[in-house]
Amino acid sequence: AKALGKNRLVHYADGMAQDAQDKARLIEDLAGATAAGQFEVYYQPTIDLAAGVTTGYEALLRWHHPTRGLVPPVEFVPLAEEGGHIVEIGRWVLGEATRQAAAWSAQAGRPVGIAVNLSPRQLADDDVVATVRDALAASGLPARQLTLEVTEGVLVRDVDQVVTQLLALRTTGVRIAIDDFGTGYSSLSYLRRLPADIVKIDRSFVQELGTGNRSTTLVASIIELARSLHLDVVAEGVETPEQQAVLGRLACSHAQGYLFGRPAPAGAQQPPAQALPAP
Ligand code: C2E
Ligand code: CA
Ligand code: CA
Ligand code: CA
Repeated sequence: AKALGKNRLVHYADGMAQDAQDKARLIEDLAGATAAGQFEVYYQPTIDLAAGVTTGYEALLRWHHPTRGLVPPVEFVPLAEEGGHIVEIGRWVLGEATRQAAAWSAQAGRPVGIAVNLSPRQLADDDVVATVRDALAASGLPARQLTLEVTEGVLVRDVDQVVTQLLALRTTGVRIAIDDFGTGYSSLSYLRRLPADIVKIDRSFVQELGTGNRSTTLVASIIELARSLHLDVVAEGVETPEQQAVLGRLACSHAQGYLFGRPAPAGAQQPPAQALPAP
């Protein structure tokens, strides 16, 4: 029993060491991943619920690790934040996503929107406005077709600094979306102060729609609040026709989710609809 106990202890210690090593190795791998071409942007459609058409896409990053295969962003984005690589990676994502949106817009003969996620560290970066301007200039994408998504979580930091940075970004003409809305503590009170254009209702609320009254009431009040502040609303994580129906009844303007399309490489997307004939 004593030996077993000792063994377990050794195993446990090994596991810990391995985790820390593993993390350090992944952070090291991230340093060269952009240059090595290991990242790929996947795209998930955003739907205009009333019209039933795709109006744009959200860029969702994927890492093709040479030995581990596909590493999901929930695993590597926090490490890229920690290791400081997220700024370089984010610059690459912006360049790639704006170029793709410009190409789709030209192909469709109508503006195709693109949303890009910005992590807290990217938002705090002094060069973020220049990075955004560069991506717009290089791609030729009109600024109003680019949305930058920041999570409500950035607000637990210095709110004044976040507001200043968002205002600076907005001078470029891009739109700002508050991501994962409803999951933070301070959402309702801070929304008024935020220079935002879009609110994205977190998937956790959307997935409960139709299963009980509380989530429906909550989603309804977020939509109502957004409307009073003249913000667009995107419901995230719509998976069932029932959820879509409830959102339609609540007059939610836009939605995303597996029901409409999973994130996929650019080449796998449906060609965007052709321009409507002029009225
Ligand atoms: P997010 O911005 O909230 O993105 C939505 C996530 O929900 C995506 O996960 C998407 O694949 C997933 N999703 C979409 N529709 C559904 C649905 O109907 N059901 C379910 N169960 N899930 C759905 P993904 O692609 O794994 O990304 C996770 C997170 O990683 C993102 O959350 C975002 O915070 C971060 N992320 C992704 N790409 C980037 C990036 O380029 N830069 C930064 N800074 N963060 C990124
Ligand atoms: Ca997002
Ligand atoms: Ca989200
Ligand atoms: Ca999220």
